Amino acid sequence: MNAIIISIGDELILGQTVDTNAAWLSQQLSSLGITVREHITVGDDINAIVGQLRRAGGMPSALNNDAVEVVLVTGGLGPTDDDLTRHALAKVLETELKLHQPSLGRIEQFFVRLNKPMSQTNHVQAMIPCGCDVLENNVGTAPGITTQIGKTPVFFLPGVPAEMKVMFDESVKDKLRQKVSAGGAEKVCAYRTLHTYGAGESSIAEMLGDMMSRGRNPVVNCTAAHSIVSIRIISRGPDEKTARVLIEPVERELRKRLGTFIFGSDEDTLAGVVGGLLRRNGSTVAVAESCTGGLLAKELTDISGSSSYFMAGWVTYSNDAKVRFLQVNPEILERYGAVSEQVACELARNACRESQTDYALSITGIAGPTGGIAGPTGGAEGKPVGLVYIGLADRGGVEVVRNVFPGGRDCVRRRAVYSALNILRLKLL
Ligand code: AMP
Ligand code: MG
Repeated sequence: MNAIIISIGDELILGQTVDTNAAWLSQQLSSLGITVREHITVGDDINAIVGQLRRAGGMPSALNNDAVEVVLVTGGLGPTDDDLTRHALAKVLETELKLHQPSLGRIEQFFVRLNKPMSQTNHVQAMIPCGCDVLENNVGTAPGITTQIGKTPVFFLPGVPAEMKVMFDESVKDKLRQKVSAGGAEKVCAYRTLHTYGAGESSIAEMLGDMMSRGRNPVVNCTAAHSIVSIRIISRGPDEKTARVLIEPVERELRKRLGTFIFGSDEDTLAGVVGGLLRRNGSTVAVAESCTGGLLAKELTDISGSSSYFMAGWVTYSNDAKVRFLQVNPEILERYGAVSEQVACELARNACRESQTDYALSITGIAGPTGGIAGPTGGAEGKPVGLVYIGLADRGGVEVVRNVFPGGRDCVRRRAVYSALNILRLKLL
């Protein structure tokens, strides 16, 4: 079964709002085994919406001659004059809008619960084109609409992502699932993602060899973000259970080939995995940061329950702060500079001592200009932008790793944080 998704709103085509609805819906449809053929985005323009709905309702695909089998539309169901989806639909169906009394009752109740007066403009949200069915909205005001255009079933959902998701889950998903199973030979997808740190995309591809070749089931894909390379296994089967079983031997083989480069799967984050290891070992950690300005402490404390292992963090940004709060020797600072192996070493060792933790991580580096790109020159003290020293202290001593990270300021800072987390992860394994 195939589908198209239409997103409606001026804010989308002006680039003010990123179309997260289409992305989310695509993921949902693909896990139901529905192939999404196109994402279409139109502004709040009735003729443009009418044009796309007519095309969707009647169109054979550009790629082959199968008709589109289902259309999902989001946006334009609000109460204001720029919300034109229901008017466009009425025009396409050559019918009138009619008050849907139960929906009006629900909207009135919604405002009663909020203890706010209902505006007259909300009335229009209960106006539904004749002959269409209503999808109840249990979290907002705009009811959804479902109907057929030509022979194609079409679902209209609110633009507000939270409302759209609940309506999809409550009123659309099961209908689509039934259509998929009525279609017979359709296949359901299952997914598993493994996250790695420490090897680039091309090295990973080399280690995987023919596991990444196309046309297999499961297929293996690779994506990279800030030096985290994620490997996605996508399998297809007649049902979810069979599709899941197909993933298992591929995952085993990936784990065998990539070993400790793999730090987690699916929703896991590096900080979450490190937190889990610290908790398992009953260990504690502190951090001393310079160029990352607290980002490492933030990542570690993003994990709920982190107070059981995260003790303290220092953001010693200036040289003075490094001396005053973490007793970095001013002579060392003077001789080697703030971005140096020696200062990273002092920061980690002293943070570990001061906080009395089992481990302390330190980061000192040259993050470079905002939006800038790292190059061989441009940093202070004749050192390149992207140069970052990361220290790890424990009760036995300190190790420092020198890195030169590519990318702009944001990228260098993120990579520094991930690299520090990974150094601790490997230590804890
Ligand atoms: P609407 O249903 O058109 O009144 O949309 C209400 C609000 O939901 C808009 O102002 C946007 O902030 C948001 N929104 C609408 N469409 C999308 C979309 N495709 N992706 C993300 N947010 C959206
Ligand atoms: Mg809108």
